[in-house]
Amino acid sequence: MIFRNNKKALCIGIFRTVLMLFVTGCVAGSALAQETHVSPWAPTTLGPLPPIASLSKGVWLKGELHVHSRHSKESSNNSISKIINFSKSVGVDFVAITDHDNHVNGDVAHNTWADPEFKSDSVLLLYAAEWTTTRGHGNAFSATPYDHQRLYDVRDQRDVVVGAVKKQLGIHLSANHPSGKDHFGYSYDMVNSIEVWNSAVWPKNANAIMIWDDMLSSGRKLTGRGGSDAHHGAPDSPDKATKNTYQRNANYVGTPTTWVFATARTTQAVIDALTNGRVCVTSNPYTPRVEFYADLDQDGKMDMMMGDNVKSTGKPVKFRVQLTGKSIVPDGTYTISIIKDGNPYSTIQMSGKTPVVEFTDTPVPNERTYYRVTVEGPPTAYPQVPQSAGLSGNMLGLSNPIYFNFDPNF
Ligand SMILES: [Zn+2]
Ligand SMILES: [Zn+2]
Repeated sequence: MIFRNNKKALCIGIFRTVLMLFVTGCVAGSALAQETHVSPWAPTTLGPLPPIASLSKGVWLKGELHVHSRHSKESSNNSISKIINFSKSVGVDFVAITDHDNHVNGDVAHNTWADPEFKSDSVLLLYAAEWTTTRGHGNAFSATPYDHQRLYDVRDQRDVVVGAVKKQLGIHLSANHPSGKDHFGYSYDMVNSIEVWNSAVWPKNANAIMIWDDMLSSGRKLTGRGGSDAHHGAPDSPDKATKNTYQRNANYVGTPTTWVFATARTTQAVIDALTNGRVCVTSNPYTPRVEFYADLDQDGKMDMMMGDNVKSTGKPVKFRVQLTGKSIVPDGTYTISIIKDGNPYSTIQMSGKTPVVEFTDTPVPNERTYYRVTVEGPPTAYPQVPQSAGLSGNMLGLSNPIYFNFDPNF
């Protein structure tokens, strides 16, 4: 019995040794493979980044970037003059009327833009359209008329063709309601922004936010924006009401509102700010605006704001979140959620007449990092669209990210 047991032990010992040699060999082999492989796509040292623009020379403008007029077939009671007059009445500074281009075979120039009502002496009107294709919807924004027909014509072509035409047209292209029905089925490499807040119904945007974070985390500096996607206005008389008229009191111009910090009160400056990301989104035009800044050298003076991109130094950075606006509830509590690289980082509460919070973190040198914030708190009433506050709930606003080490040439 003893002999047999020893033989068995010997066999097990030999087997273990062979197995260990095999495993060690495999590990050494893979380590060797890792050591010798260098990805040609590995990040290289970043060149100089453009200087940060002034934090004070500019103006905050609020606007609507997705609304349909009577030139969209499924719209009702929503003439262009009705949209503009309403915008003026609630202090909206800029509007993009984004009618469906497929309803006019791409000829936006002879429809929405040629409408005699398409003019305003106070509201900045962007030249815009909703590129409405089998693979998804996107808004085109421009400060001047452009040949939208060309974008319409390539809608079913490969992305490489679409991207080239978009570039030639010099437009800002933005992915609309990117998940769900009419999801955005094109490459995000050819868009400048993404609609992360579509309509007053806030909870349905969860997937859009997830896509945004994925694009940001993979190095794409992509602005998040809002858009009501409202199609229906108030009828001039009760007999003009449609089955969709009820939507007017729940979702209309400004639900949500997109704010831009523009260098001037011009359509071009609005689009530039949108491209650069000095942008936040709030539930309506009266909701306190969320501003997000960073103090890089901790001298108490803010050096950059949302949308800006700098190299990290390895030193701690002080971030500041503040709310601005007349509708702040002084005894209300506002909850700031900080998202770092797509993950929840921390939650801070603030209150008072001018709510401000600061937090400190050290972005890793030579690696991409981004921070963005969302604000929840007591809903701000929007009497002109009375049911909208109930649909957006406690969600008040979101900032665009503050970026570190994002490659502008990516
Ligand atoms: Zn759409
Ligand atoms: Zn739309």
